[in-house]
Amino acid sequence: MKRIEPRLKTRSLTARFTFLVVMLTLVSGLMFGGLLGYGSMRDEVHEQYRIANQRLDFIQEPARFALYHLDNETVQALLQSFQQDPAYRRIKLTSDQSESFGHIKHAPADPAFLTPLIRRAFFNALPSERDERLFHVSPFNTRKAVYVGRLHADFDIDHMINKATAALFNTFWLTCIQALMLGILVAAVFYASVGRPLQAITRNIRQHARRGQPFARLDLDVSGIELKQLICHYNEHTRRGERYLHELTEANRVLDEQARRDPLTQDYNRRELVQYLAATLAGLEASSRPLTLVIWDIDGFSRVNDRYGQDIGDAALKEVSTRLRHMFSDGAPLYRLQADMFAMCFRTRDMDHLAARLSDALRVETTLEAEKSCSTIELTLSAGMAMAPVHATTSESLLQAAHIGLANAKHAGQQCLRAYSPAAGERQKRKVAALLLLKERLADGDFALAYQPKICLRDGSLQGCEALFRLHPGALSAPYELLQEAEATGLIVPLGFEIMRRALGDFAPLLPTLGHDFRLGINISPQQLIEPDFSHRLEQMLQHYRFPATNLDLEITEATQLINNHAFKDNHRRLRDLGVSFSLDDFGTGYASIEYLLFIGFDFLKIDRQFVKDLPEDANSLRVCRAVLTLARELGCCTVIEGIETRAQEALMRKHQATLGQGYLYAKPMGIDAFSQYCHTRHRTPRLPPKA
Ligand code: C2E
Ligand code: MG
Ligand code: MG
Repeated sequence: MKRIEPRLKTRSLTARFTFLVVMLTLVSGLMFGGLLGYGSMRDEVHEQYRIANQRLDFIQEPARFALYHLDNETVQALLQSFQQDPAYRRIKLTSDQSESFGHIKHAPADPAFLTPLIRRAFFNALPSERDERLFHVSPFNTRKAVYVGRLHADFDIDHMINKATAALFNTFWLTCIQALMLGILVAAVFYASVGRPLQAITRNIRQHARRGQPFARLDLDVSGIELKQLICHYNEHTRRGERYLHELTEANRVLDEQARRDPLTQDYNRRELVQYLAATLAGLEASSRPLTLVIWDIDGFSRVNDRYGQDIGDAALKEVSTRLRHMFSDGAPLYRLQADMFAMCFRTRDMDHLAARLSDALRVETTLEAEKSCSTIELTLSAGMAMAPVHATTSESLLQAAHIGLANAKHAGQQCLRAYSPAAGERQKRKVAALLLLKERLADGDFALAYQPKICLRDGSLQGCEALFRLHPGALSAPYELLQEAEATGLIVPLGFEIMRRALGDFAPLLPTLGHDFRLGINISPQQLIEPDFSHRLEQMLQHYRFPATNLDLEITEATQLINNHAFKDNHRRLRDLGVSFSLDDFGTGYASIEYLLFIGFDFLKIDRQFVKDLPEDANSLRVCRAVLTLARELGCCTVIEGIETRAQEALMRKHQATLGQGYLYAKPMGIDAFSQYCHTRHRTPRLPPKA
């Protein structure tokens, strides 16, 4: 699993936060310091000026009297008191005659580097640099004031500004230091309460991640409720993450397993078999034990599904899978390739022994519980096998060879085991080629139909005919293998419609001369009859050719899948309502069983040729024919005897009251032109008994 490295950088985060706090406080310290310093500087300048003025106020009275009394000593003393005060650049006392009594002069202060700036900034706000005070005295006896002299004072503003600048810097630095200390305090508190625990958490997570435990819980004792909650949340998420990871791993494992297995039987699937074959065949040497691939297929499995339903079909598949696994537990695992197709591989040189074991396993009898009842189903299997490296050296070609072996087994009949043979391969190729041919013919409408008459046994009149599919006009029989392939591939549905169209088209112009009770029999595949729109399409076709429905008879052989089919029931009811009749073809053979008569309404029972061919000599055939004729009478059905070839057969069937006969005795199947000629030679009297 990919290791998850937490990308948390709490150290730099804390450092950055601390730095930010310090910088912020520093900047705010600078700003506040500047502002406060500016204020204190203004105040300082005005304070200095006020004090300087106040001092002048103090000496004002003594100076006035000293000037009035020309008290030079006092004047000098007053002036001396300013000697140490650098706030004044010059102090001068003059008499009323403008004679100087004396003055104090200080060297102007050196302006500090900020002074010119402050001077500019304070230009309007700065006080006047000079003060001049005139002294008057009023003698006792006069009210008139006498001018006695004046005081000149020049303030040293630069000196004041220098002092104020010093105050500004003091305030500024003090504020800055305070702000800095505050910032450091905040950062320290932050680091202690948040930064350090966060670093601990991160370190912990990183350590867990390095140890490959991305979801390990934190076990830290940190102060602070919020951090504790944070760890709680983290641990909660970690727990969920652990669970999620576990579920994910489990789900991945299950998915992986499911992708390799068949969901119904839990056997491995085709992809797994191909992989196994590819891996095994790659290392297969001529000297090593051969690899035998066996493919089983359940005979007529679709009939189990059709008859008992999907659930029973599934249960049967599971049963077959279990049996095969049980019987061949020494082989490689069992694979389910398709619906009813299983495969297994064997590594043995003793082919006779293997063949014997395989032959024993071609029959599975099982009791399966349907919804209401228990049914014992007997299933037979056909199996094909191919060996590597004798028959094939690659997985695909080995599979193909085993399939050919299986096709060979199917061809030989049910419950057979056959190995691949080149001849079977050729046959398979011919089959595929023939199917292609059938498709082409269907696309081009390039096929023929032959019609064989059905004759009334009582008076020999022509009562109808059966349309039979031919690849070429004049061919003696239907391409039965091709029809079976068409049935297996579903091609029978479009082909069946084309046959119907052709037959209706052929007979529509003949019908007026043939009479209202002439029935054109068409063989229909059950796959056509379960098409939901079958009856609708047929009705449209009948309307198109103006062909009365009562002149049409549909012959069905294989009716298992029709019994419980809703679409068929609808089609059947609708067509019978229209007047179309139904025949149960090949009655008595494997497919057409008595059971169908219970579920499907038929108008005709066609007794198969195999019960007629040995008549009149074979007593058993006669018994079966008599029984079927009685059954048909009881059910109210008419009967058609197939394959009548001799007058004796005809006479016997007439004696036992069979209704119609069909066979070479009357005519072989022929093209529509020949059939039209044939009709003119027959005298037709409609004598069909009324329908039940
Ligand atoms: P089926 O429907 O039972 O047709 C009767 C078969 O018996 C025909 O063989 C016919 O030629 C043959 N037959 C009739 N009278 C005699 C006789 O006296 N002696 C002998 N030996 N044979 C006789 P065909 O034409 O080869 O057809 C074989 C089967 O192919 C048909 O049996 C039917 O199941 C199927 N088939 C033929 N045409 C169609 C078709 O258009 N659609 C479908 N779905 N199946 C068809
Ligand atoms: Mg038929
Ligand atoms: Mg038949």
